[in-house]
Amino acid sequence: MKTPLSLMPVVLLLSLSIGHAEEKHAAHLHGLGTVEIAIEGKTVKGAFEIPMESLLGHEYLPRTAAEKKAMADLQSAVAKASYFVSFPAAAECKEKSITAESAMFAGKKSEHSDLDVDFEFECAKPQALTSIEFPLFAKHPRLGSLKVDMVGPKGQKSLTLKAKDPVLRW
Ligand SMILES: [Zn+2]
Repeated sequence: MKTPLSLMPVVLLLSLSIGHAEEKHAAHLHGLGTVEIAIEGKTVKGAFEIPMESLLGHEYLPRTAAEKKAMADLQSAVAKASYFVSFPAAAECKEKSITAESAMFAGKKSEHSDLDVDFEFECAKPQALTSIEFPLFAKHPRLGSLKVDMVGPKGQKSLTLKAKDPVLRW
């Protein structure tokens, strides 16, 4: 059954507002991340779920000094939303909030670990917001695809972005 288009924004906004209260342990596909984006007026909200394997090359807790450093570097890098998304300069978007969590950052081991990211931007000139770039791809070659679900001024859109063209346009 197809969900009526008119209901989609409500459904997506609802799932975004719920966020990632619980760490998920469901299996994921390595190399495939997901992102939900909702644009309403000046506000851009988003939630990523990315396999830690795509970011670190492993899902076990770091063992060597190099692995420990790589995870610490990642944890500090993901504290800025610009690590994940980039907006057209003319839209004058400013980061309002970001949280980036993983069970691995908390020293917890499980079969599959994700990085769960929630972010919010406010854009002073939302009319100039016609695309979003994902610089994350260039930083993490193991991330091959990003499944995007978006609700914006032109309605709902679902597609899969690849590293060779990491730009969402509408
Ligand atoms: Zn995994």
